Amino acid sequence: MLTNLAARDVETLIHPYTHLDKFRETGPIVFERGEGVHVFDTAGRPYLEGMAGLWCTSLGYSNRELAEAAREQMEKLPFQHIFSGRSHDPAIALAEKLKEIAPVPISKVTFCSSGSEANDTQVKLAWYMSNALGKPRKKKIIARTKGYHGVTVASASLTGLPANHALFDLPIQNVLHTSCPHHYRFAEAGETEEAFSARLAAELEEMILREDPDTVCAFIAEPVMGAGGALVPPAGYFEAIGAVCAKYDVRVIADEVICGFGRLGTMFGSQRLGMAPHTISVAKAITSAYMPLGAVMLDEPMYQAMLEGSREVGTFGHGFTYSGHPTACAVALKTLEIYERERIVEGVAAKEPHFLHRLAALEEHPLVGEARGLGLIAGIELVADKATKRQYEVKAGVAAKAIAFCQEEGLILRNLMGDRIAICPPLIITQAEIDELFDKLGRALDRTL
Ligand code: PLP
Repeated sequence: MLTNLAARDVETLIHPYTHLDKFRETGPIVFERGEGVHVFDTAGRPYLEGMAGLWCTSLGYSNRELAEAAREQMEKLPFQHIFSGRSHDPAIALAEKLKEIAPVPISKVTFCSSGSEANDTQVKLAWYMSNALGKPRKKKIIARTKGYHGVTVASASLTGLPANHALFDLPIQNVLHTSCPHHYRFAEAGETEEAFSARLAAELEEMILREDPDTVCAFIAEPVMGAGGALVPPAGYFEAIGAVCAKYDVRVIADEVICGFGRLGTMFGSQRLGMAPHTISVAKAITSAYMPLGAVMLDEPMYQAMLEGSREVGTFGHGFTYSGHPTACAVALKTLEIYERERIVEGVAAKEPHFLHRLAALEEHPLVGEARGLGLIAGIELVADKATKRQYEVKAGVAAKAIAFCQEEGLILRNLMGDRIAICPPLIITQAEIDELFDKLGRALDRTL
């Protein structure tokens, strides 16, 4: 029996990433408030938010300073756009701050409101750059199977998950997908991580040569793949891939929408994983999700090409009403200030060993084929047979069952495609709360057996 709010929801809302027909029976859990790493439903029941919302609420749910930063900015200048010669302090200061903390030299920053918009912007800028440089054939962008880059027409095309393409007539042309670097699933018997990385780099090189290097402009990747399964790349992966990209003048785009701002125990995921990007997409934790905000950080060669293009055609025709929204920028500035002051990134590095220790213990569980993680992000692969790594029938919905038991235990985690469970708690989680998370998950897995 659905509560009144849940019934009204079913009548009115379309929910992303939901089986629309089954949802009519189950309805949603309706949440009302949050405190620290916990959220509470309308009946007052607490849940440990083990996914930081959607990989984003790094500072948890009750940060007064962020609320205050938003209130102050809203009272002073709630909105001002930055089209056609206008500007404001929060956008300028935030762009400066991003340049200061960037893992590679950054020339300029362009703002938007989400990760999808950031990656959409990446596609448009890559194409604009090639055209401005007189290389109109250099347009193909290589993404990866199981990568996740968003849901706009271009970013959903980059995404390498079937649900984002089926019935949507995607991907668009000029987007290709190379293999997913998941060692547990895709390495050959006895293949080391380094050998697997070298094989994937060779495959990428073959793809570039087959397509013709003069037609390939960029390669995009998340440092740790999020929605594809919280997949940590094999040793040497980005070094090997980066060398291939450099050889063929293929620019590297880091999608830091999940890994940016401390998730892996470094300010940016690229720094931890040997990735050397030319441009970077960020969103989510830039405001700890208290306001929608995304950004693309771009290098000097891209800026010079954009200048060239603008000299040719006049107006630079890209940007959103909310590019650099002052309230979102003010909240982002406060978020970054808190990350520094509270040493949040160092805190992740300090908590990582305990988090990974509790995670690794799950591999003893009869249902768990692999438990992988880095920093404070992890993925668990449920299998029907540990020896052969055989997966359950899709219709068995084993991970979905485990997630439902987690919910009954008072823990929110996320079921990803292919019987995978993701863990990505707020970065402020304490050691005791990490224990609470894994204790609850362990009980839920026992009940799933
Ligand atoms: N890129 C990555 C790596 C993501 O995980 C996501 C969302 O989860 C996106 C892009 C899309 O961001 P948004 O949902 O804010 O559009």
